[in-house]
Order: sequence, then C-alpha cells, then structure tokens
Amino acid sequence: MTDQQPSIGSTVALAKPELDGLLADLRRGGFRTVGPRARDEGIVYAEIESLADLPRGIQTAQKPASYRMTQTGQNRCFDFIPGSQSWKQFLFPPRTELFTARKESGKWKLDENIEEQPRYAFIGVRACELAAIEIQDRVFMRPDFTDPVYRARRAGLFILAVNCTHPNDTCFCTSMGTGPAHKAGYDLCLTELDEVFLVQVGSELGRSLLAKRTFDLPSAFVQKNAADALESAARSITRTLDTDGLPELLMDSLESGRWAEIGKRCLSCANCTLVCPTCFCWDATDLPDLTGKTARRERVWDSCFNLQYSYMAGGNTRPTIRSRYRQWLTHKLSTWKDQFGVPGCVGCGRCITWCPASIDLTEEIPALRAEVKK
Ligand code: SF4
Ligand code: SF4
Repeated sequence: MTDQQPSIGSTVALAKPELDGLLADLRRGGFRTVGPRARDEGIVYAEIESLADLPRGIQTAQKPASYRMTQTGQNRCFDFIPGSQSWKQFLFPPRTELFTARKESGKWKLDENIEEQPRYAFIGVRACELAAIEIQDRVFMRPDFTDPVYRARRAGLFILAVNCTHPNDTCFCTSMGTGPAHKAGYDLCLTELDEVFLVQVGSELGRSLLAKRTFDLPSAFVQKNAADALESAARSITRTLDTDGLPELLMDSLESGRWAEIGKRCLSCANCTLVCPTCFCWDATDLPDLTGKTARRERVWDSCFNLQYSYMAGGNTRPTIRSRYRQWLTHKLSTWKDQFGVPGCVGCGRCITWCPASIDLTEEIPALRAEVKK
C-alpha cells in the first residue's frame, strides 16, 4: 500500500477484490454499472454489481460462424472476447419512444419523450469498442444535429476500459488501428494479470474513485508482465485487412462480379448489422391505440439488409441481396468516411463470427482487390 495519490496519466496496481469497492462507489454515485456476464453459452452485457458477476475463468474461441466458451479454472475476469452484444444497446437503445400524440378537442397534441436518461458505467470496454463508441459519437452528435437521447446518455457515461490480452481469430483491430490496447478516451483502464489489475487513470472522475481504494505502485515486474501480455496479444492477431486505398477500391468495384457471388451465399439475415457496434440504421414506427385517440412514435433498430429499409416512393432501390451486401460493405469502408471522416469498421470481427454463412469481409476485400488488379 502507498500513501501516494493517483494522478491522471499514472498507473497503479489494484488487488482484484478492490474492484468491488469501485463498483459500489459508482452505484452509490448514481451509475448503473453494466458489464459482461456469462449467460446462455455466451457473453452478454447486463447489470453487474460485483466481481463475482463477471465471467471469471472463461475464455472464448471465435471463428467465422463459430463462437465457443471454455472454462480455464483461472481467477481471471476479462480473458474472453465480447460476444454478439455491444455497448450501442445502451447509448442507442434498440427501441426508443420519441413522442406520444394525443387527440384533444379534435386537435392533435404532441408530448415529446423527456424522460431522464440513465447514467451508465460501462465495465470492461475493449479498445475496438471504445473506437466504435467514438464513431457513433460522430453519427449521433453531428454539428448540424445531435440526438438528445444519445447525447444525454453519452454525457453521463463512465468508462472502465480493459485491454485485451486474449484476442480471438476473428479480431483484426490492429489493421484498423483501434486495439488491442487502449490509447485514450477512458476514465480508468485495466490490464488484468493473475493477481492484480494494473490501472491507468484517464480522467478526474476516474482518479477520484481510485483515490478511495487501497492500491500499490506497480513493481517493475508487474509492469513488465503487463507490457509483455499486451505485446503478445497484438502479435497473436493474424487476421488483417489492407486499408490502403480502401474507399477508392470499393468505388472502383461497384460493378464487380464478386457481389453476385456473395449474393448467392448471403441470407440477408441482418445479423452482421445488428452485432456491429457502429451500425446505426433505424426506422420510425407509429403505434396507434384502438380508440384512435393516442399514438406513440418509436425509433427501432433497422438494417440495410432488410428489404423494406430501402423501399421509397413506391419502389425498392436495393431489391437484391447482392445490392444490399454491396451497400453495406461500400458504406462501411468507403462512403462512411465521406460522411463522418473515418471508416465505419473498427475490426471487432463480430460480423465474421456471427454471420451464419461465414461471409468474411477480410476475405471479400482481397478478392475485390485481386479483381480490380486483373
Ligand atoms: S463491420 Fe464487422 S468487424 Fe467492422 S466494426 Fe462492424 S462488426 Fe466489427
Ligand atoms: S452477410 Fe451474413 S450476417 Fe450479414 S446479412 Fe448476409 S448472411 Fe446475414
């Protein structure tokens, strides 16, 4: 134990049980602490209260169309790679009420949803996931329009990040420059070792919470172990995506025969868009009651793979699966950059793991490249 106080940018060693106190302080401070939990053969993000709720002693193995959890028997909480869920469900909820319309004395009156938004503490955010949140910030908090629900939830957010030490086969964050280690944007960031967490302080709120805990200055041995673990994690990522000239490649490939090949395999199930932490398509649905006197308008997640999504003015602009897959990939890796200044992919690999047809964008891009070259 040390008498020194943590400062922003400093790193301390925290005994694992101390995380319980940190979570309790966050909850006392009005945060809803959400993090990974093992449930139904997978990892989900849900409310957690203590270290015991985390998926302790679990590792994952992910391949195209394959996800497996294994028990290691070790006392480690963050050795898995996240499952299909991402943090977007909390900042951009799958279903949001926008307003209620009521008919009073023959006139319609609108009541906007001004519900107070929950204040979340995200526990265990990976580097690629934080990059995805930063991409959705660009989408929902634009200079010309800011989504009030997203803004309120984002403004109150506390991020306890974690560095990845066991990446899976579908990860390619190193190609997208987003991981596996965090650079900035968190309140606190953990690197997990067998006995302790190495904690980096990223904000004043993170510092003040850590100051209430019992911690040590990390020994050179602990620091070297953590650095070695991160280096080995980065080395273990073998899947790559060559991002050189990617936006231009996709624009040059609009008439490629490859789209028809993918169109034969793709089920248009929309899994890839729902699991993607950056995808943001939504639809507005009106729900009138049977009296005809009130109606609610809701925003619900949608997908560019859904046929109705591109239905407009009496016709569908993307009636084939080929055209919908082309739209998705071209938007992700090319026109997204025109819109928001960065690509829409962080290399988390979810769309590869959760595609039932094993369609893999890291295979599709080289195939398009080879065709353009020819
Ligand atoms: S496109 Fe695929 S790899 Fe890229 S961020 Fe979305 S789910 Fe992850
Ligand atoms: S690419 Fe895969 S996950 Fe995406 S819609 Fe097609 S079959 Fe579904």
